Amino acid sequence: MGYNELVKIKIRPIERRCEKLSRELNKLLHNNRCERCGKSGDVYKLDWSHVISREVKCLKYDPDNWMLLCFQCHKWWHDWPTRSAEWFENKYPGRKKRLHDKENKKKTIHAEDYLKIEAQLKELNTNRYQSLDIFPARTPTLAQNSHIDQPYIPGTSAIAH
Ligand SMILES: [Zn+2]
Repeated sequence: MGYNELVKIKIRPIERRCEKLSRELNKLLHNNRCERCGKSGDVYKLDWSHVISREVKCLKYDPDNWMLLCFQCHKWWHDWPTRSAEWFENKYPGRKKRLHDKENKKKTIHAEDYLKIEAQLKELNTNRYQSLDIFPARTPTLAQNSHIDQPYIPGTSAIAH
């Protein structure tokens, strides 16, 4: 068995678990409502959406990079990038820039990181979003950047029009 094959077999199950945890946590964070139009996940299917593409692996599991959107709003997000960027900036001032800064650091996720990510996602699930510090070894501490990692308190932001 080649190295890549081995990595694939070992990582995929952990990745899947991380994806599942992230989807569940994302619903909790937003009271299971679409962040843009407020549709309830009890009635509509809501997507685990990303501000910056989930292909950017170092941001895929960062709750700061997540949105909970219904199908229409998710489609709108991708179809109307200029409008949706404006909406996002109004709703969450400075957040996009913060994400781009994280993206520019281009952290690579290694095989061993997935177990850490999984553990932290579980922790986040039980603590209801106490921390965004998914990559403690590579990101500055919360204490140094307390202005950066403000959690979004679910249900407090106004629904966009
Ligand atoms: Zn929506």
